[in-house]
Amino acid sequence: MLPLVALVGRPNVGKSTLFNALTRSRDALVHDEPGVTRDRNYGVCRLLEGRPFVLVDTGGIAGEDEGLAGATARQSRAAAEEADLVLFIVDGREGSSALDDDILRWLRKLAKPTLLVVNKTDGIDVRTALAEFARYGFSDVLAVSSAHRTGIDALLARVAALL
Ligand code: GDP
Ligand code: MG
Repeated sequence: MLPLVALVGRPNVGKSTLFNALTRSRDALVHDEPGVTRDRNYGVCRLLEGRPFVLVDTGGIAGEDEGLAGATARQSRAAAEEADLVLFIVDGREGSSALDDDILRWLRKLAKPTLLVVNKTDGIDVRTALAEFARYGFSDVLAVSSAHRTGIDALLARVAALL
């Protein structure tokens, strides 16, 4: 069984863009075409160095229990519960939100190895963006721009080191 890495976060922080950047990275040498399994999207990352792993994208946690948003959030939580490593994705442009705080509380209870990934750091002051999330207390924080593919290989290296 390959280790499982889950992308978790509220909608619109760039999880799917990051999924694509990670599975198409220079350091992710070969990847299977991501296949949609219900509303979870899986891809295999085979790294130049380090163990291959399965990456799972999810619809995101929107903080609602009802309807499609609730079902999507349950899928996201289920993916995180299965995962060996969680990548908690936040939006470096918008900064932290109440929903991010809720997800953080849930992740703390889950108590899995978790990396904080501050996305959308293109064209902004990265130190300010990171400072906004300092109170989250993560020792492992990575700034990336999924859209511009910056910080992606460093993130992959960090993931590989933890698996
Ligand atoms: P998801 O809902 O978390 O999967 O988010 P998406 O991947 O669908 O992205 C949401 C929006 O953010 C889209 O308009 C993306 O183009 C944009 N986006 C994603 N990553 C970045 C980034 O690194 N920088 C910028 N500026 N925009 C981004
Ligand atoms: Mg998405």
